[in-house]
Amino acid sequence: KLLSQTPDPRKLVGGLLLRDLKTVIGTCRWCRYHSASFGGGMYRLLTLLQDGRFHSGRELGEALGISRSAVWKHLQRIQADAALNLYKVPGRGYRLAEPLSLLNHEALAPQLEQIGWSLHLYDSIDSTNAQALRLLQIVPPPFLVLAEAQSAGRGRRGRSWVSPFGQNLYCSLAIKVQGGASQLSGMSLVVGLAVMQVLHQVGISQAGVKWPNDVYVDGRKIAGILLELTGDPADVCHVIIGIGINVNMIEAAGIDQLWTSVKEHAGMVDRNELLLTLAATLRQNLERHAQVGFAAMKGEWESNHVWQGLKCTLSTGSQDCSGTVLGVDDQGGLRMMIDGGVRSFSGGELSLRLDQ
Ligand code: ATP
Repeated sequence: KLLSQTPDPRKLVGGLLLRDLKTVIGTCRWCRYHSASFGGGMYRLLTLLQDGRFHSGRELGEALGISRSAVWKHLQRIQADAALNLYKVPGRGYRLAEPLSLLNHEALAPQLEQIGWSLHLYDSIDSTNAQALRLLQIVPPPFLVLAEAQSAGRGRRGRSWVSPFGQNLYCSLAIKVQGGASQLSGMSLVVGLAVMQVLHQVGISQAGVKWPNDVYVDGRKIAGILLELTGDPADVCHVIIGIGINVNMIEAAGIDQLWTSVKEHAGMVDRNELLLTLAATLRQNLERHAQVGFAAMKGEWESNHVWQGLKCTLSTGSQDCSGTVLGVDDQGGLRMMIDGGVRSFSGGELSLRLDQ
């Protein structure tokens, strides 16, 4: 909509012509920033199949107003594009190997609108953080980018986040921060706390945070967080808060550390409900952080730190420091007892590992 409302379509936005930007930006089916990777028909087909039950080719064709052979072609494309396993049984029809909980723009957008966030939902995008950074050039924050799949999901320090279609939550919230980067201290820890609280609410009481901002359940990673900053760090800047939560994923290739999902602990959940709980909790935590600062939330964070008081090694890239985790300082930096002295560490290049 914004693109078509722009009086001069050749107006420069962030150094790109708007018409070029439209190509770069991809498509949210509902707000029409692009054309979705699945057609509307394919999306309706998946909606019908998401219950995991059998549906005949005739029933699906009638619901969509297409022939049975067109249904079959669509299903083949869904299987290929979304890497979903589908059973075809003569006389019974088609069913997905596992039921799905698809994200529903109609259900989510009005609720998010109530807390002042606009929604941009994609079937598949390279990375929701990357998309949020691009959208910032034409969409006023705060807004939320959501995707059913990420083809290049990002972790910290160039690592990747495994993001299969329809299984998990991949979302990025873009917000404006006044008063410079000092307002950001501890923010990523506060985001981790919000994700953990959401997991507690769905019954995973053993979920805890790991410095700086991962969320673990019984020693396995269930969520990752990536904050990215753009703008003037001394004045008005924008923060992209990227969150990946493993929700209904039970199998995945390419994750080189122990991981788990909500489904393993609490059964299959409706991803729309989980997203709304996350949005409400995140908003509350960010508001509190803006009002009272991280120092006031430090105690709560420390009492939920999975490696509090344990022997760990902090890798700084160039060297490793081993010691006991004492907690965090008022800015969210890690406090460790190393060789009889207390030291604080902060910065994006640090990685903490539990000593065996
Ligand atoms: P750090 O402690 O430095 O945060 P990390 O290895 O957990 O270390 P992140 O950038 O938070 O780093 O996350 C990326 C890593 O998470 C990947 O290298 C991979 O090991 C793991 N990973 C990737 N996808 C998933 C996923 N869906 N669920 C759990 N873990 C994942």
